[in-house]
Amino acid sequence: MKQVEKPKKPLIIYYLIAFIVLILLNWFVFPMFMGSNVREVDYGTFLNMIEERQVSKVQLEGDTIYFMDKSEEPQQYETTTFDDPELVNRLEDAGCEFGRVAQEQMNPILSMLISIVIPVLIFWGLGQLLTKQMMKKMGGGAGGNPFMQFGKSNAKVYVESTTGITFNDVAGEDEAKELLTEIVDFLHNPGKYQEIGAVCPKGALLVGPPGTGKTLLAKAVAGEAEVPFFSISGSEFVEMFVGMGASKVRDLFKQTNEKAPCIVFIDEIDTIGKKRDSQGFSGNDEREQTLNQLLTEMDGFDASKGVVILAATNRPDSLDPALLRPGRFDRRIPVELPDLKGREEILKVHARKVKLSDNVDFNAIARAASGASGAELANMVNEAALRAVRDNRKYVTQEDLEESIEVVIAGYQKKNKVLSTKEKLIVSYHEIGHALVAALQTNSAPVTKITIIPRTSGALGYTMQVDEEERNLMSREEIENKIATLTGGRCAEELIFDSVTTGASNDIEQATKLARAMITRFGMSDRFGMVALETQVNPYLGGDSSLSCSPETASTIDDMVVDTVKQAYDKAMNLLRENKGKLHELAKYLYEKETITGEEFMSILNKKEDTEEKN
Ligand code: ADP
Ligand code: MG
Ligand code: ZN
Repeated sequence: MKQVEKPKKPLIIYYLIAFIVLILLNWFVFPMFMGSNVREVDYGTFLNMIEERQVSKVQLEGDTIYFMDKSEEPQQYETTTFDDPELVNRLEDAGCEFGRVAQEQMNPILSMLISIVIPVLIFWGLGQLLTKQMMKKMGGGAGGNPFMQFGKSNAKVYVESTTGITFNDVAGEDEAKELLTEIVDFLHNPGKYQEIGAVCPKGALLVGPPGTGKTLLAKAVAGEAEVPFFSISGSEFVEMFVGMGASKVRDLFKQTNEKAPCIVFIDEIDTIGKKRDSQGFSGNDEREQTLNQLLTEMDGFDASKGVVILAATNRPDSLDPALLRPGRFDRRIPVELPDLKGREEILKVHARKVKLSDNVDFNAIARAASGASGAELANMVNEAALRAVRDNRKYVTQEDLEESIEVVIAGYQKKNKVLSTKEKLIVSYHEIGHALVAALQTNSAPVTKITIIPRTSGALGYTMQVDEEERNLMSREEIENKIATLTGGRCAEELIFDSVTTGASNDIEQATKLARAMITRFGMSDRFGMVALETQVNPYLGGDSSLSCSPETASTIDDMVVDTVKQAYDKAMNLLRENKGKLHELAKYLYEKETITGEEFMSILNKKEDTEEKN
């Protein structure tokens, strides 16, 4: 505590010096400048000069009169008047310009205050403020000893449901809730699990686009858990000095060990969990040390003690693989953008807080707000309420909600990917194109889900294919089929609309990558056989490839890649042409449902075949 006073002493000395310099300037320097070319004369001389019409401009300042003569180089004069009632008349007769400068006689104490005390006070206040800011930056906070506070974690601790948020406040996201409920349940009665020998996962990672309720879910866990809940954001570990972040991590885990069973939540973990640089010249030692410390601590604690670490990120791809391995964040909880039903539920949850008129149809709103995240839906309800207030209404109406969709969504239409009818149709055909090509080929993974809910990754929809078994190997045929499947989206667009869109850019990228890898890394070309033309740089961290062949070979590879993709495209085009009827029917179905399961897809595909045979 004492150390805070130390920096004050030198500061006061500076204030004193500044003060003295100011006063000296005031007394000696300024008058010299100002008084240099003003001649002081007595009042009689002034009157004489008026009579002789030598005076041009006159200014009255209280009792003092400033005036100029009419010579070539006007000289400024100063004189003092006594109360002269004739002065105005005299000036008028002489025809000179004159005016009075309003000047209030200032209390000398007041003027002293303004010119000296207030500036000094301002300086002093600024100094204090800066000192405090510096202390805070150094980790001390106002009044504390900054050096003792270094590296103390500032995780907020919630004990019991201080957040007041429970799973009831989170709509949709049922899988995520289920997985989290299990964790909460484990912390409530660990005995039940230990009897069987089940070990609770140490960590769970909430992954999903922004605004889908990851932070909200974690808060809900805090509300449900009835155990201490530590919440810290990844950025809070990032410190000015190397080693501070790591020491914060240590401190956090020390606290959790004392408070176990408990839950730790690290929001936005990508801030510290980014892939470590494989080159070794990263220059960001601080972040790496913090991450290493986190990994060490996660290995170090005993899960049976009941410490569960939750983390959230919307950039899982950038996370260091070491964070994701079993024993650390081995459980990945996807928190995706809500589908139609989810959107409706989220709207209802947030509408609990506002007064609604009877005519509100949430289903219609949810339908219109295709692609909106939970945060956007919450915002919409609020916008609608604001609009109702603006219009002096007591209730939120359907029109309010519809209008607010336009405000929230149309505002960021491009950014947040809410599709127009036409685009939605194109995307429907695109995705069904993928799914159909996949389903019509042998040796390709079954389609499990097709959706046209846009992703923040840039995809406007996707077709999910999941293998029945875990796959470690892929045959050449399978890769070729996969490339054909990837081109299927663009094929469908071309076949139906006779034009192509930018929507296939990701497919193109993937197809090219696969075709390239077939040739350069998997030895699947007749031309080159088993020659490694490309090597992966450190596959554990990052996995960028670097070309290791001659320029001639590189250009041959390029040609071969083009051929491979073209062949796949032709194959996909033929498949779709032969099954155009199914393509139409399925695309229409997807357009209406937005998300369809693999079973729905297959049943329509097979049913259609039957009817076609009958006809
Ligand atoms: P993020 O996934 O980016 O962490 P947040 O959890 O911060 O998103 O969500 C922001 C806000 O959006 C929440 O406070 C909540 O009001 C709203 N929200 C998002 N998802 C949901 C949901 N599934 N149910 C209810 N509200 C939600
Ligand atoms: Mg968040
Ligand atoms: Zn596609």
